[in-house]
Amino acid sequence: MSVYNFNAGPAALPLPVLEKAQEELKDFRGNGLSLMEMSHRSKTYDEVHNHAIQLLKEVMEIPDTHEVLFLQGGASLQFAMIPMNFLPPEKQAGYVLTGSWSEKALKEAEAIGRAVSAGSGKDGVYKRIPSPEELQLEEDFAYLHLTSNNTIYGTQWQQYPETSLPLIADMSSDILSRKTDVSKFALLYAGAQKNLGPSGVTVVAADRKFIESGREDIPKILSYQTHLKSNSLYNTPPTFSVYMLSLVLEWSKEQGGIEGLERKNAEKAGLIYQYLDDHADFYAPYAEKDCRSNMNITFTLKDDELTKEFLQKASEKGFIGLNGHRSIGGCRASAYNAVPKAACEALVQFMDDFYKNR
Ligand SMILES: *Cc1c(COP(=O)(O)O)cnc(C)c1O
Repeated sequence: MSVYNFNAGPAALPLPVLEKAQEELKDFRGNGLSLMEMSHRSKTYDEVHNHAIQLLKEVMEIPDTHEVLFLQGGASLQFAMIPMNFLPPEKQAGYVLTGSWSEKALKEAEAIGRAVSAGSGKDGVYKRIPSPEELQLEEDFAYLHLTSNNTIYGTQWQQYPETSLPLIADMSSDILSRKTDVSKFALLYAGAQKNLGPSGVTVVAADRKFIESGREDIPKILSYQTHLKSNSLYNTPPTFSVYMLSLVLEWSKEQGGIEGLERKNAEKAGLIYQYLDDHADFYAPYAEKDCRSNMNITFTLKDDELTKEFLQKASEKGFIGLNGHRSIGGCRASAYNAVPKAACEALVQFMDDFYKNR
C-alpha cells in the first residue's frame, strides 16, 4: 500500500536506505551473518562506526574542535546528562523555553541544580520564539540551553542568540535540515529518529574542551568524558541504528549535502505554508510567520469538528501522522529530510480538494 508518511518521529526514512539495509540484512557485506549478530568490537563494526562519525563530521561540517558521540537514552537522557556534567553547584543554568521539550529539559536540570528560564514564549502559547532582546542572560550561567526546532508547536529558531556563554542545543527535530555553524555550540544533540535514522542512537557533537570541563564525580556511564575516551564504545552501542545512520548520511550526500537538503526542505514546507496563507479563511497556520518551522508545519481548521473530519478523510487517503501532538491538537505535517516533495504536493492537493468540497 502506498502511503504518505508525515509522522513526527519516529519518522520517514529514505526508501533507498531501507532497500540497502534489506539487501545487507542477512549477510552483511560478505561476512555470512547480520551486522546485528556481530561483536561491537569486530573490525567490521568498527568500520561502520567510524565511517558514521566521519560522514556526520563531513556532512554537518563539524570543526576539528568538536567530537561526535553516539549515545543512547534519546534526547530525554541528554536533558539529564547535560546538567549532571556541566552544572556545578556554584552556578546556574539558563533555559530558553520555546515548547514542551524545553520545559522538560529545564525540569531535569532543576532536579540536579539551579536552573532558570532565560526567556519564554509560553505567554504566547509558544507560537513564537523569544527575540534576542527578550533573553535574560546572567553571567553565572554555566550554559544557555535552547531547542532549535519545536516539534510540537512547529516553530524554529531563525537566528541563534549571540553570546559568549556555552551554547547547548536540542536539535532533535531539525539536525541536518539546514546549514548550522557548529562552532557556535559547545554541545548539540539529537535523537536520531526524526532526521537521522531509526530510534536507538542519540547523536552528540560537542567541543572537546567543553566535554573535558565537565564534572567527574558522576556515574561513569553518564559522563561525556567516558564516551569521548572510548570513542562511544564504552558499552555496547546501538550497532544497527549507527549503521542505519551511516546509510542516511550517505543518502544525504547524494541529495546535495546540507545545502541540497536545506533547499528541498524550504521548497517542501513553502508549498504547504503558501497554500495555508492563500486559504486563510479556512485553514489557520499555528506558528507566527517569522518563527515557522520547515520541519513541522502546524495548523488548524475553522473548528474542531472540521479538523476531525479533515484528519479522518486524510487518513482514508493514505496520509499518515497528520494529527497534531495530543497536547495541542490540530494538524501537523512533519516534512523531515526523507519526506519527498511529491508527498507535500499530494498533501496540498488533498487540502485543496477538501477545501473545495466545503
Ligand atoms: C522528539 C524530541 C525529543 C524526545 O526525544 P527522545 O529521543 O524520545 O528522548 C526531545 N526534543 C525534541 C526537540 C524532540 O523533537
